Amino acid sequence: MGRAVETVEFFPVDSVAWQADAPCATADFDFIPDQETDEGANEAQQWCRACPVRTTCLAWAMLHGAEGYWGGTTTYQRNQLRRVRTRAKCPLCLGTALVYEDPHELCLGCGVSWIRDVREEPIAATPLPATA
Ligand code: SF4
Ligand SMILES: [Zn+2]
Repeated sequence: MGRAVETVEFFPVDSVAWQADAPCATADFDFIPDQETDEGANEAQQWCRACPVRTTCLAWAMLHGAEGYWGGTTTYQRNQLRRVRTRAKCPLCLGTALVYEDPHELCLGCGVSWIRDVREEPIAATPLPATA
């Protein structure tokens, strides 16, 4: 059985037009509390689970470093998503034969290389130059 893949519609980075469809706009619940709790996260999840703009909401919160419950996640969970880590697999061919040569990593399977993920920003793989 195929797995549904959710995609994020492109949206202007500062636009909040997508929030017009957000159920939380009228919810009797504080999505941006002074202190986040497990109970709050659970309640937010119940709103976000069925939200039609959830993926856009999460992307927006990641881009803007928003605090509070967004897209069914807590501030802590989004910080975890941003965390620096060394890749265990090639992002292109998913091969695991990787060579580490700081600050680079090279995939022996497909030859792609990228800068080791020691920065705050997400990493982008460098495609191989097209061969004639
Ligand atoms: S995902 Fe949650 S926080 Fe985001 S718009 Fe929907 S209900 Fe609101
Ligand atoms: Zn590879």
